[in-house]
Amino acid sequence: MIRSGQIERAKTVLVVDDQEINRDALEAILEDRYEILFAENGQEALEMMKAHREDLSVIMLDLMMPVMNGFEVLQRVREDEELRKIPVIVLTAEREAELRALQAGAADFITKPFDEIEVILARVGRIIEMSEGRKLISAAERDELTGLYSRNFFVEYVNRLFRYHPEVRLDAVALNIEQFHSINALHGREFGDKVLKTIGAEILSFLSDTESIAGRIDADRFGIFCRKQEDYRAMLKRFQQKLDTLFPDVNIHLRMGVCPWAENTDPVTMADRARSANSMVRGNYQQPLRIFDGEMLRRELLNQRLLNDLNRALDEKQFMVFYQPKYDIRCTPPRLSSAEALVRWKHPEQGLISPGVFVPLFEGNGLIGLIDSFVWTEAARQVAAWRDQFGFSVPVSVNLSRSDVFDPHLVDRLVRLVRDNGLAYRDIKLEVTESACTDNAKIVLDVIRRLRETGFEIEMDDFGSGYSSLNMLSDMPIDVLKLDMKFIRNIAVSETDRRLVSLMLDIARYLRVKVVAEGVETVDQLKILQDSGCDLVQGYYFSKPVPPHEFEQLIQKEAGIERMKKE
Ligand code: C2E
Ligand code: MG
Ligand code: MG
Repeated sequence: MIRSGQIERAKTVLVVDDQEINRDALEAILEDRYEILFAENGQEALEMMKAHREDLSVIMLDLMMPVMNGFEVLQRVREDEELRKIPVIVLTAEREAELRALQAGAADFITKPFDEIEVILARVGRIIEMSEGRKLISAAERDELTGLYSRNFFVEYVNRLFRYHPEVRLDAVALNIEQFHSINALHGREFGDKVLKTIGAEILSFLSDTESIAGRIDADRFGIFCRKQEDYRAMLKRFQQKLDTLFPDVNIHLRMGVCPWAENTDPVTMADRARSANSMVRGNYQQPLRIFDGEMLRRELLNQRLLNDLNRALDEKQFMVFYQPKYDIRCTPPRLSSAEALVRWKHPEQGLISPGVFVPLFEGNGLIGLIDSFVWTEAARQVAAWRDQFGFSVPVSVNLSRSDVFDPHLVDRLVRLVRDNGLAYRDIKLEVTESACTDNAKIVLDVIRRLRETGFEIEMDDFGSGYSSLNMLSDMPIDVLKLDMKFIRNIAVSETDRRLVSLMLDIARYLRVKVVAEGVETVDQLKILQDSGCDLVQGYYFSKPVPPHEFEQLIQKEAGIERMKKE
C-alpha cells in the first residue's frame, strides 16, 4: 500500500516446508509482495518464529515434515501467548488434514500443488488483513466454558470453509437442551454450567473422531457442521447418554435438528434450517430428532413467499373477514348472540389460505398488526352495516395478537374505531389468547384492565391450551372464558374430560365470567354443555366461519325467530 509517497514496509511471510521445490514455488509467487523467511522443518520454524515474532505477518506451514510435523508446530504455536497471534496457513495435499489443521488452530489452508497463483496471493493477503484487523480467528476465539468455538468465530469459519472449499460437504446440526432455563432455575447456574461443559466435552470428542466443526451459539445452543452421519439418532444418543450417566438424578433432555448438505445452499441457511428442524421437536421427548426434509423446505418457501406477498395482498384487498356465530345455549332454541371475526387470505395463486398458516408466521415478526388492523376496521364497518340493515346489533369479537397488546396506541385506536363507526363499546369484543396473558403478565394485564375500563368486553381465547393456572384466573380482568377445543373434543366419550369441563364451568361461575365452548361439532357435545351450564357455544355444529353474505342469512333467521316470538 502506498501512502503519501511513502512505501509501507513489506510484510514478512515465514514459509515452512521440507521440500525445496515447494519453497521455490512459494518464493516465486510471493517474492514481489512480501519479505520471505524459510524453514525446513518444525523445529527450525519454531526457532525462527521466536526470533522474528514481531515481524511475522503470516506463517505458511507444511504439515508433513521430518523432525517436527506441522500439527505439532500448530500445537506449540497455540500454547504460546505471543505466537498464537500470528496466523498460520497450512499447506497440504489432503482434505482430511485440512480440517484437522483448522481444528488445531490454523487460519486457512492452501492446497498443493501451488498452481493457482492469484488465489494464493488473495488468500495470503486476506488472512493478513484479517489478522491486522484483529478479526482473526485464533485459538483464543473459543467459548471459555465449553472449549468450543465462540459463535462469531464458528460462523466466520464455516463461511470460509464453504467459500474456499465447496467440495467439503458438511451437514449442519443444531443441538440444545429442553427447558434449559428450568434446569438453571431448579439446580442453580453452576449445575447448568456443568451440564453445558459436559456437552461441550462430548462434542469435542465427537469432533476428533469425525472431522467436524462445532461452536456454542449461545446459552444452551450448540452448532455443529459435520460429515454426513449414517445415523444421526446414534449421534444424539451419544450426547444424551453422557448426560444420563453423569447426572442420573436429573432429567435433562437434548433435542437435535439436522440439515443435510445441499447444492447451492450457504451455511447460514443450512444452520437456520437445522434450527427450525430442531424447533419442530421442541417438547417432543419421544422424538427428539428431526431432519430438515422436502416438506419443511416447501413450508419454508411458502413462508418466504407469503412474507413477500403481504404488502401487495393488503393493497389489493386479498384478505377477507369471515364470521363464525356464537350461540347462547341457555335459551331454547339457542339464540345467535354474537360472532367472531376470522381472517382469510384469498391468495391469487395459493387459493384460500387459513390463518393457521400465516398468523403464526406474521406474529413472529410483528407484521400481524397490519392484518389485525385491517380485520378490526372491516369488522367494525360490518357491524355498523348490519345494524343499519337489520335494526339490531350483532356484536363481533376480534382477535388481538401479542404485538397489538404492546402497541401504546392500542386503546386510542380501538376507541376511534368504535366512534368512527357510530358503535357502542359492547359491539366490538376483544379476544386475547391465553398465552399472551401469561407471558408478560403484568404489562398485558394493565393494558387489558384499561381496555375494560374503557368499556370493551374481554374474552380469554384458547383457555387451557397454555400454562395459566386456574388460580391465576381470579386476578384476570376478563368477562368471558373461551374453553379451548381440546377439552370439548372428547367430552361425549371421556368421563374425565366431561368432569374437567364441568369443573372449569364451576370455577367460571364462581368468578362470574361467562364461558364459550369452542369447537362444538355434535349434538351430544352440545347437550352435555347445556346440562353442565355452559353459556355460549361456537363451532361447526351451528356453523363454520362464513363470508358476510352467508352470515346475513343467520341474522335473518334469527330476526325471523324473534318476530315469531313477538307475534
Ligand atoms: P381462534 O381465535 O381460537 O379461532 C377459532 C378457530 O377454531 C377458527 O379457526 C375456527 O374456524 C375454528 N373452529 C371453530 N369451530 C370449530 C369446530 O367446530 N371444529 C374445528 N375443528 N374448528 C373449529 P381459524 O379461522 O382457522 O383460525 C385459527 C386461529 O387463527 C384463530 O384461533 C386465531 O387465533 C387466529 N386468527 C384468526 N383470525 C385472526 C385475526 O384476524 N387476527 C389474529 N391475530 N389472529 C387470527
Ligand atoms: Mg379467537
Ligand atoms: Mg380460540
